[in-house]
This record gives sequence, structure tokens and C-alpha cells, in this order.
Amino acid sequence: MGRNFRGFCAHDSVLRFDENSLMTRIFLQILTGGFCLVAPLAVSAMEPIRGDGMAIPKPKPDIALAYPAATVSMTTPEPRPDLQLILPHSTRTVAEMIRNQTGLETRNETEFKLKSGEGLATLLHRAGLSKTDAAAAISAVMGRASLRALPIGLSVRVADHGFAFTTRNGRDIYAIRDPEQGWIAFTAIRPIERYVAFAQGVIEDSIYRAANQSDIPDDALAEFVRVMGFSVDFQREIRRGDAFALLYEQQIDQISGKRVATRLHYAGMMLSGKQLGFYRFDHDKSRVGWYDREGNSAARTLIRTPISGGRLSSSFGVRRHPISGYNSMHRGVDFAAPKGTPIIAAGSGVIEQAGWLGSYGRYIRIRHNSTYSTAYAHMSRIASSVRPGNRVEQGQVIGYVGSTGRSTGPHLHYEILVNNRKVNPMTVRLPTGERIPPEFLGEFQQQVEMVEAEVQATGSVRFAAMELLPSEQGR
Ligand SMILES: [Zn+2]
Repeated sequence: MGRNFRGFCAHDSVLRFDENSLMTRIFLQILTGGFCLVAPLAVSAMEPIRGDGMAIPKPKPDIALAYPAATVSMTTPEPRPDLQLILPHSTRTVAEMIRNQTGLETRNETEFKLKSGEGLATLLHRAGLSKTDAAAAISAVMGRASLRALPIGLSVRVADHGFAFTTRNGRDIYAIRDPEQGWIAFTAIRPIERYVAFAQGVIEDSIYRAANQSDIPDDALAEFVRVMGFSVDFQREIRRGDAFALLYEQQIDQISGKRVATRLHYAGMMLSGKQLGFYRFDHDKSRVGWYDREGNSAARTLIRTPISGGRLSSSFGVRRHPISGYNSMHRGVDFAAPKGTPIIAAGSGVIEQAGWLGSYGRYIRIRHNSTYSTAYAHMSRIASSVRPGNRVEQGQVIGYVGSTGRSTGPHLHYEILVNNRKVNPMTVRLPTGERIPPEFLGEFQQQVEMVEAEVQATGSVRFAAMELLPSEQGR
């Protein structure tokens, strides 16, 4: 696909930490401390790290604990009660849970899939439960899970005295016919274990290829590219010999063996001797920030390349105009890309213009703040929510590549305006996002030190040695 699509490749591989190492334990404790606890996934991440992947036998939980604790109002800095201690853990089979909870031995465990148009009652009936039993079981389950929105294909494991299914948030709902209490239902936590991995490599042509060879999960890489994308243009700025490093965590469901979540904690790059490193910081359950060591945000107010996979086909400056044939000033950059390629908002802001604008064809202009605006031209289509006065978020798809207006082929014409003056998007100095709030700085720096210690322990030697690579000459 041309030289702008150079891949890279890693010389290196994922190094799996010794999960029992003191460092790893401390690191994970820090990561799960306080702020992390509010995220639902991080709650299950309280599972201690064990090396052999075997589930440690759990004492039989008191069934009373399966009932929800009274709601208490809490503010963020206080840790929430540890659900790991309150809720029972899921078991491999429903029979195992029934045995744990009631002492009864159960047989005939079968998996049923929820069919289209079917409710849980119908499925249970199909599985052999009497109407009365199914109704009683469902009224027990009702307070635990929304039964209206169960997905088609949902797997329900039904045994003689109970059944179980997994909800969308990754919890298991068990319903058991207790000999004394009748049908009871409760939530159980699936056993999740966390594995921290550090990966680094030297790029030969594409970071995607390098990451592939290093076995880096797709979502960790996507997050890496998103975080680095503010500072690095992956299509044009990467040279052979540049290096990358990631520290990420994977959460593995110990029953299904599936990866349920990936979380990137550190993203680092070495570009011709220039070193970049960003650290994740969870402000609360909804907001994740990325900052350098000093706490400056990785995010730039604007993205230089608001399109993925586009090839820079015409840069900013004087050129011979492809249609008029005259020399003229090109006050934007062009990215050639197939018709229909999504175009994203380079930054958050308010739509100033969205519609046809003469030779620009279908055109969008976004005002980001009192200083910066961006404009996008020749689109084949404008996203339906994009109307003047509407707000857009950075990264939101606003339209699609086309060749409308005065254009010779499908491409995005992109402009950055500083105080209404068009500047070169590839070279203009873009301000960073805000700094980390001062009240979080201590906590953040503690986390940086832990990540650094992990990186030092595994990869620093090679990363440092890259400064000596001959490929950095003549750039
Ligand atoms: Zn142009």
C-alpha cells in the first residue's frame, strides 16, 4: 500500500511476569488501591495473583451473605466494601454450587440457549421445570438481574435443583431450590485473575505487525495507538529502529479461560532518541487520563491526522493546483483514502458549519475553543448527528471521505485554523490537555514509580541500548 504503510516488527516478545514476584504483587496492590476499586472490573481484580491458575478451594459461604448488603452512601476516596468477601464465587458447574450451598447432590446438568422470542420462563419449562417451579425461580431471580433484556443465545446451565447464567456485567446469577427455603437466587463473582505483561520491541515497518508478533492483545494496542496518537503520527513519523514498550494487564476468567478485559498501564516510545512515556490514571469509574511523568496530559487539544489509514497526498504550501493548473497556496493537507473512510473530530468542540460549501463540497467546521478550529472538506456524507450548534467529542466520527466539490478523487482536505488563520496541521504546535489535578498528583506519582519499577525490572536495558542503534543517524 505504498511507503506510508510501512509496518513494523518487534524483535521482542511478551515477557510474562512471575505472578508471585513481590514486585508484581506490590504493583497490583497499588493499582487496585482506592481509586481503582470503584470500577466494576477492578473489583473482581482484587483476586490475588496466583501462579498456577488453580482455584484455591473456598470455604462454603454463608448463604445469608448472598443477599445484598444495605445500601450505604459513600464518597469516592473511601474504598467500597470488598464484594469478593461478600459474594460467593462462581463454580465450574451448577451442581458444585448446589452442593456448596445445600449439600444436595445434583445430576443432569444441561446447557440451554435462549431462543428468539423466548423468555427465561419458557426456557426453564423447556428444560423440564414445572410451571410452578419456573415461576418461583423467576420471582427469586427478578431482583438480581433484568430479565427483560436477556440476549438471544444466552447460555443457561440447568441442573436438577437449580440453574445459572452469566449477566452482561460478567456476574453469574444462580437460582437454587433449597429444601427448606424454596427457591433462592444470588449473584456470584466469576473468578478473575490478573496477569501483568510487559512488551517491547523495535519497529521495522509497522507497529501493528510488531505487536502481532509480540502477541499483544488488540485492545491494548488500540489503546496504545490512541494514547500515542496525540504525539506521534504513526503513518509518517515512525522510522525503522524506533521502539515501543507497553505494560498491560489481562484479566482472565478462570472458569472459561477467556480474556475478559485488558488494561494498558504504560505506553512508551523511542523515536530517533526522543523518548515518550505515558501512564494511565483512573480518576473515577468513567474517566481515565494519560499523563507523562510530570503529570502533563498525553492528550492534545487536536489530532493532526483525523482519519485512519489515510495517505498524505498533498501537503500544506504552494503547489500546482491539480485542477486549475496554476500555482496556488494549499492551506490544508490532503489525505487520500477510499470513499467512505470514517473521518473523526480532531478535538472536542461545537459544530460551526456542516453542509455544502462551494468548491469544498460537503464541509464541516468545528470550533474547539476561542483559538482553534478545524475544517474537513470533500466528504461523501456527513454523520447525521453533526449539525451546526451540536457538540462533538474528540474521536467521534463526523463524516466519510468522498470527492465532492472541486476534487480529483476521494480524499479528506483538512485544515487547522488558529485565530481563523489556516496553519500547517502537520507542524503547528498544539497545546496539551490539562495537567493532572493537584490532589491526585501524589497518588499518580506513586503509580508511576510502580510502573517504572516493573519496566526497569524487565525491559530497561534493551530500551536504553536502542539509543545506540545506527538507524537513528541521518534523520
Ligand atoms: Zn486540499
